Amino acid sequence: MAFDKTEYIWMNGKMIKWDEAKIHVLSHVVHYGSSVFEGMRVYKTPQGAACFRLRDHSERLLNSAKIYRMPMSWTAEEIDQAILDTIGINSLEECYVRPVAYRGYESLGVDPTPCPVDLTIATWPWGKYLGAEALEKGVSVCVSSWNRIAPNTMPAMAKAGANYMNSQLIKQEALSHGYSEGIALDVYGHVSEGSGENLFLVRKGALVTPTFAASILPGITRRSVIRLAEDMGIKVIEQNVPREALYLAEEVFFTGSAAEITPISRVDNITIGDGVAGPMTRALQKAFFGIVKGEVEDQYGWLTHVPKYEKVTA
Ligand code: PMP
Repeated sequence: MAFDKTEYIWMNGKMIKWDEAKIHVLSHVVHYGSSVFEGMRVYKTPQGAACFRLRDHSERLLNSAKIYRMPMSWTAEEIDQAILDTIGINSLEECYVRPVAYRGYESLGVDPTPCPVDLTIATWPWGKYLGAEALEKGVSVCVSSWNRIAPNTMPAMAKAGANYMNSQLIKQEALSHGYSEGIALDVYGHVSEGSGENLFLVRKGALVTPTFAASILPGITRRSVIRLAEDMGIKVIEQNVPREALYLAEEVFFTGSAAEITPISRVDNITIGDGVAGPMTRALQKAFFGIVKGEVEDQYGWLTHVPKYEKVTA
């Protein structure tokens, strides 16, 4: 995917032209991966562009920063507003939003404390993460030979840039073997998550997903799917999941802001269920896409509509 550039990127409170949104090569983040970030989708609805769970993303960004002792100069309200302004000024009807806070330019000792914490927010159109057909047909995935980060090494609950070195190993290995994505086990051998997605299984009609203790990111789509399932009367179980439970599941799917709800048709070349999106996956997709596309009432208050942006002329 090459970038589909938009006009402005928000940097520390200023709208900067896309091509000029740069940082110094000696910024701490470039050397030590000291960043925390978010990824959020904005959907086109009959009422205009709408962010999916805006406040939850801003809060998770602040939580990630807290874990890494990064003092943030912006509140959740201010981050929400900056995101809305960036979508608005770029006149986007639907897009992906990438806020990233990072240790900037000051010194290159490992201790990040002297370095400023900068925040940027970029928005651009982004299609279906695992391919246009994936949402219907499902993807073929493998269990990675790489484990997810161990609990006492790097905090998985923080959405930190450095965690994605582990994700890159998982993703590249899967692609090099001809799979669309890799599933990592945690260091104890239980199923954790995909390189950029949480994971669900359907087993005897119940929905099963790994707990936070399995080195997963607390996904916002994961939380939404749990809520939708519970309200549909489906039993949801958060528990340790052995690898072989994937093979025996009736259905398996990924969730994520980028991946949305993507069915998994094969794991390690073993066909899951009938090898197509199963009935529970399809029911959850229907409920999810109905809300995000503004087709059914947003009874959970998950959407924030993007107000028309008033261009200020000096
Ligand atoms: N796990 C990882 C490692 C991820 O990168 C993501 C994407 N942010 C997810 C899970 C899903 O989280 P969310 O639903 O909040 O996008």
